[in-house]
Amino acid sequence: MSHARPQELIKKNVSLKKYSTFGIGGFATYFSEAKTIDDLLFSLKYAKEHKLRVFVLGKGSNVLFDDRGYNGLVILNKLQTIKYEDMLVTASAGYSFALLGIQTARKNLSGLEFASGIPGSVGGAIFMNAGASGSDVSKVLKKATYIDTELNIRTLANEQLDFSYRTSIFQKKGFVIISGCFSLCVSETARSKQKGDLKRRFDSQPYKEKSAGCAFRNPQAASAGFLIENSGLKGKSVGGAFVSEKHANFIVNKGGATSSDVLQLIENVKSEILLRHNIELECEVRYIPFE
Ligand SMILES: Cc1cc2nc3c(=O)[nH]c(=O)nc-3n(C[C@H](O)[C@H](O)[C@H](O)COP(=O)(O)OP(=O)(O)OC[C@H]3O[C@@H](n4cnc5c(N)ncnc54)[C@H](O)[C@@H]3O)c2cc1C
Repeated sequence: MSHARPQELIKKNVSLKKYSTFGIGGFATYFSEAKTIDDLLFSLKYAKEHKLRVFVLGKGSNVLFDDRGYNGLVILNKLQTIKYEDMLVTASAGYSFALLGIQTARKNLSGLEFASGIPGSVGGAIFMNAGASGSDVSKVLKKATYIDTELNIRTLANEQLDFSYRTSIFQKKGFVIISGCFSLCVSETARSKQKGDLKRRFDSQPYKEKSAGCAFRNPQAASAGFLIENSGLKGKSVGGAFVSEKHANFIVNKGGATSSDVLQLIENVKSEILLRHNIELECEVRYIPFE
């Protein structure tokens, strides 16, 4: 079903807290929930006509919204379709990436077992080239369909998506991902592999706490978690934001953390690692400023 009128689709002053796994963020001045491609196109046109900044949101598991919110239109991507054709599976950008990992493994399709522990959307996973257990999106994605800045619907093949460690072409262009087509293979062991991947993650990461996954990208020299733990920073805090005791590369909101708390803690960790190891950590979490 698509919405015809802006008053139904475009809402004003919507809190972003519940749309971020960190549980942090003020209000978006404009907010729409796109369930269809028409909704997406309508929202993007509305933003163009009203000269609004646009932020496309998946499951909010890799973002830190500002306490003041977002001055512009946040489009929540809720496109939810899925289609299986032999060993190809095409999922809409709003589809749960974790669910996709579980469902494909249950069908004895191998390739996306690693996805079952990543609490993002398909769109967010493609944008971030999300990965775990030695794999990532770039290894299984055949092609991605998106809306370009002129509002045309286009498709690019894997080789054209500029994938590398936690990056894709989508981080450089203002494109909106609509769907991804993944190429899998048959394996009797897909389900047990997927369950094993998930268990290892539950055992090693603070899954039940509010976070946005790994705070920092892994530098060449060593994993960010190792460097942070080794520097005695586990448990360090600013306000309600803490370096997780379970996994040092996670910053968790233990209650009432603000975006300033998280940003200050990030700065504290970065300067300590620079001082001790002469390594400049880069953020993996994406901070979204108010304007
Ligand atoms: C407990 C936990 C564990 C995690 N483990 C991992 C892990 O093992 N590996 C890993 O890689 N990540 C991990 N993450 C981080 C996160 O889940 C991934 O980066 C995920 O792919 C983000 O998807 P999302 O839908 O939540 O994106 P969001 O957080 O909503 O958005 C992230 C970025 O993607 C953009 N985006 C989202 N959808 C679209 C779209 N349709 N079109 C264009 N741009 C879009 C947004 O604008 C934003 O810039 C973890 C997070 C948590 C909380």
